[in-house]
Amino acid sequence: PETPPPENEPVRAYAPGSEDRRSVQERLRELRNQTVEIPAFVGGTPVYPGSTSEVVPPHDHQHTLGEVHQSGKATVDDAIDAAMEAKAEWAAMDFSDRAAIFLRAADLIAGPYRDTLNAATMLGQGKSIHQAEIDAACELIDFLRFNVHYAEQIYRDQPNDSQGIWNQMQYRPLEGFVLAVTPFNFTAIQGNLPTAPALMGNTVLWKPASRSVYSAFFFYKILEEAGLPPGVINMLPADDGAAVGTPALQSEHFAGLHFTGSVGTFDHLWSTIGDNLDTYRTYPTIVGETGGKDFIVAHPSAHVEQLATAVVRGSFEYQGQKCSAASRLYMPESIWPDVRREITSQLDEVTVGPPEDFTNFLNAVIDQRAFDKIVGYIERAREADDAEIVYGGDYDDSTGYFIEPTIIRAHAPKETTMCEEIFGPVTTVYVYPDEEFASTLPLVDETSPYGLTGSIFARDRAAIKLASDVLEQAAGNFYINDKPTGAVVGEQPFGGARRSGTNDKAGSAYNLMRWVSPRAIKENL
Ligand code: GLU
Repeated sequence: PETPPPENEPVRAYAPGSEDRRSVQERLRELRNQTVEIPAFVGGTPVYPGSTSEVVPPHDHQHTLGEVHQSGKATVDDAIDAAMEAKAEWAAMDFSDRAAIFLRAADLIAGPYRDTLNAATMLGQGKSIHQAEIDAACELIDFLRFNVHYAEQIYRDQPNDSQGIWNQMQYRPLEGFVLAVTPFNFTAIQGNLPTAPALMGNTVLWKPASRSVYSAFFFYKILEEAGLPPGVINMLPADDGAAVGTPALQSEHFAGLHFTGSVGTFDHLWSTIGDNLDTYRTYPTIVGETGGKDFIVAHPSAHVEQLATAVVRGSFEYQGQKCSAASRLYMPESIWPDVRREITSQLDEVTVGPPEDFTNFLNAVIDQRAFDKIVGYIERAREADDAEIVYGGDYDDSTGYFIEPTIIRAHAPKETTMCEEIFGPVTTVYVYPDEEFASTLPLVDETSPYGLTGSIFARDRAAIKLASDVLEQAAGNFYINDKPTGAVVGEQPFGGARRSGTNDKAGSAYNLMRWVSPRAIKENL
């Protein structure tokens, strides 16, 4: 039956004094004052492989939220057995019964567990309440509901019959298990990567990022409560990704990888899969989203305030730790002084601090490694001849990994911070002579190997058209007069090509199609 597309989950405001705000604050306090023990989950059973590591909030690294058990080869081998055992029954289940489980999970997140998942994301991944709400609540709920809608479209799509002939496309799951490797920066992506293949009838090994295993744990418990049968999604935490990746990719039953993370890890997994091809029964499906060096290009006709707001939000929300974050800006000389003034006045109003204080716009970056890397770029810019810091540049890791929003001005268009992915609250601006707009566009295109997101700001239609044409391959998500972050499921399917990934658009039929292996059946009647 054809059902109408779902509505996007409305974003809650958590206004001061509201019941919503009080309730999530209460949950934050509760979670902060307890510790959880996070096991691996294999065949629906918690397992405690032995060694553990601590779960630490990025804004308060002396505090412990719990401990997480480290999966090893034996855990992974058991998970493969569990996934293969659960597979036949799961795949044979009516699609509507599988779908009902994920729709129930969406309702549980929208209702009773919204505060829990938001609070866990705020504490474990260092998100403000707004950033948690649009991720761990709204986008995750949207993924779960829209995927069901897109899957229905796929299953409905059937070939023609002809005289005396009946034809059918059977959308079988892949032959084997899918490995989902998820990133720390979005609880929504963390939820989508294992559940999308599972919705299509696959069973899954899920390796959450070590830095977001806290929210991963609560999400797993929600799936369980929603009725997910044992073995369909097996959660395998490990600080050392290879502890899960290596045995999983050595299995003859490995049939697909659903990945979001760094280019380095994706490249490594891809070549490992290539090296192991002889082992597998089938060519594995590889779907990955990696990094970005996302741009905002402004034309002299751009609206100054709108542009400045986009720079501030696009570059600094969630401390710039979105793959989609703006991190290189191309500004025309004529409007740059006004844009800079407006950015400065906006940034002067924002504060950096713990997410429990809802007035903070920025929180801590994810961990010491990220902090050191970002600070390295700031210090390089401070000393380099081809760059200068024009805003911010301070940092402090004494209690949490706090870095001020920082703007670097590059004096050469291919200065280091214009080219490399920093993944922090640092954005670099290159100011070009107005008359060079047309020749700056190819420069934008060739400066980065990535192709994830980017924006053009202009009121001049011809400039918009030119940018859209020249930058056709430079961004899988292209924004006109908007910041390059915050794609909405059902509205802007998300993903990029080039070195940003396989561009299979999260939360769309394109993505779900990758988790089926169709069989075309013909019968002479
Ligand atoms: N979909 C997110 C956005 O549009 C970014 C996802 C990511 O960082 O991987 O901002």
